[in-house]
Amino acid sequence: MTKKKILRKKGYKFRLYPNKKQKILISKSVGCARFIYNHFLAKAKEDDYKTYTQYSKQLTKLKKELMWLKEPDKFALQNALKDLDKAFNNFFSSKNEFPKFKSKKNIKNSYRTNKFTRKSGSTNIEINGSKIKLPKLGWIKFSKSQEVKGKIINVTVSKTNTDKYFVSIAVKEKMEELDKKDNAVGIDLGLKEFAVISDGKKIANPRVLKKYEKKIARLNRSLARKEKDSNNWYKTKKKLAKVHEKAANIRKDFLHKFSTKLICENQTICLETLKVKNMLKNSNLAKSISDVSWSKFVEYLEYKAEWYGRDLVKIDTYFASSQLCNNCGYKNEEVKDLKIRKWKCPECGVIHDRDINASKNILSEGLKIKKAS
Ligand SMILES: [Zn+2]
Repeated sequence: MTKKKILRKKGYKFRLYPNKKQKILISKSVGCARFIYNHFLAKAKEDDYKTYTQYSKQLTKLKKELMWLKEPDKFALQNALKDLDKAFNNFFSSKNEFPKFKSKKNIKNSYRTNKFTRKSGSTNIEINGSKIKLPKLGWIKFSKSQEVKGKIINVTVSKTNTDKYFVSIAVKEKMEELDKKDNAVGIDLGLKEFAVISDGKKIANPRVLKKYEKKIARLNRSLARKEKDSNNWYKTKKKLAKVHEKAANIRKDFLHKFSTKLICENQTICLETLKVKNMLKNSNLAKSISDVSWSKFVEYLEYKAEWYGRDLVKIDTYFASSQLCNNCGYKNEEVKDLKIRKWKCPECGVIHDRDINASKNILSEGLKIKKAS
């Protein structure tokens, strides 16, 4: 049997080490991209949003008036317009709020450039060893922690407010589906444990995250006590950004490893998505961090399932996964109380761990949905 080939989009991210001159040019490209975005957003605010093509023509004119716009990478400017177009389309389809102006004080500043091949066969973006060639910037050292496979589509250069530079490389790669498996699991996402799996395994959040959450809370309190825009306020803000960055990296790493493991080991993965939406309303820090993790986790599972030919079954509808006895189907309303961690089914007498029972219900409900579809 031939396996289906899928074109998968993949992103690589590496630390970038530009020299002094390159740093200046990166700042200019970032600044000009932001200028273009804000300039045309202001125009759209005055006089309704036109189309990308119309603004693109206006951009060509603008570049003749403002010579300094010629200095940075031209794709950076075009892509800023494309981003604005996307932001407006999202607004028109009521997916997002009205686009906002971009501020210099963003946590991350970036611009995106595209790869193209000239008639001669040479390209504007190339990788050679641990150096990458970028338009206008030339060759820059980067820490290549893995090989970049596939066809490069575009590259984003970013600078954090902790003065670190990164390069994100988007590629398209031909992939083969994994061999089909019989295994299926149900997953209950939670606050106490990150996830509980229907086979009885409980997956905790990485322990070091707790340490960073405490640090973030402490720095937030300290920031609140400082005078806004003072030197110390900026110092604390920078520290806070660093800790956030570290925590985010640890979280991402954990979510990638866990989602890949699930995808490799199982053909069918069932989970509830309602919970993620519900919990988003909660403003508590620990919960809001979990929310981010959950939606990222679902996102990773979604695209990895697509890449490798697995089935992800999302249970959207209201489903009483915690209250149903997985053995006999009896619905025990008392279990609504979140404090109840263990319970005995009044009907069949089976003793349940709250979360394992829930994940087993998610599995059987998911398999039902999969069969029906
Ligand atoms: Zn029962």
